[in-house]
Amino acid sequence: MSATRTAATGTVYLVGAGPGAPDLLTLRAARLLAEADVVFHDALVHPDTIALAVRAEKFAVGKRCGRHSTAQRFINKRLVDAAATHRVVVRLKGGDPLLFGRAQEEIEALEAAGIRYEVVPGITAALASAAATGTSLSQRGTVRSIALATPRVGEGERASDWARGFASADAGAIYMGLGEGAAIAAALRAVGKPPTLPVAIVENASLPAERVVYTTLAGLAQVDSEQFSGPALLLIGPQFADRRVVAVDARESELTPKVGHG
Ligand code: SAH
Repeated sequence: MSATRTAATGTVYLVGAGPGAPDLLTLRAARLLAEADVVFHDALVHPDTIALAVRAEKFAVGKRCGRHSTAQRFINKRLVDAAATHRVVVRLKGGDPLLFGRAQEEIEALEAAGIRYEVVPGITAALASAAATGTSLSQRGTVRSIALATPRVGEGERASDWARGFASADAGAIYMGLGEGAAIAAALRAVGKPPTLPVAIVENASLPAERVVYTTLAGLAQVDSEQFSGPALLLIGPQFADRRVVAVDARESELTPKVGHG
């Protein structure tokens, strides 16, 4: 029997793999990976996470800036085709599938082909990065709105006005922005942000190679992105002034046994 639109047997699960650490996966994601017949995963997903799909055929279809990537339309077609012959199809995406992951294009292709799908959320990089800094994204009384943005513009898309929306929030996270530090700083200065505004650059959030570099908008323009090899996110807001000393002190005092109170 040939596969027709109505013959689809499977469900496609768009699953968030979380920011990197394999144990920051949801239980639902882990269960679906264990049940999966086929998995299409992004390049950034941790090998231990992919390994949870014990019975699945696995395909890397991921995109990484500047590296080989599979065309989006081809990924859409593979998802549709896989659902015609497999029961549990997992599309595993870094972080949360619905943030800067081109999930809408995949959802539209699945809907057009009449294929059942479900989205399983994941921990997005902004949240794992905030965790790495030990700093609350919101701040009582001062930071009540947080923007999630990217300056990245895809081929054939209109120029982006991301900075205006970003600037009207109290703080924010910038995805896919590391290589464009100077342009980001200039755009935020142009909409009235001060050069002293704190910036935390978080690389490899949640992974063993996690690193936080504190700077300011003025300093961001000078940052050499070649110093960073892993994925990196920019957290920008008044709360992201360098707090390292405080955090280290706090950890040391937890670890140092108290010797009496006198
Ligand atoms: N859907 C993903 C984002 C994909 S866009 C999510 O929800 O997290 C890819 C960008 O996410 C990278 O350029 C980087 O800015 C950020 N990113 C992903 N993983 C990261 C990590 N472990 N640490 C810091 N930034 C990360």
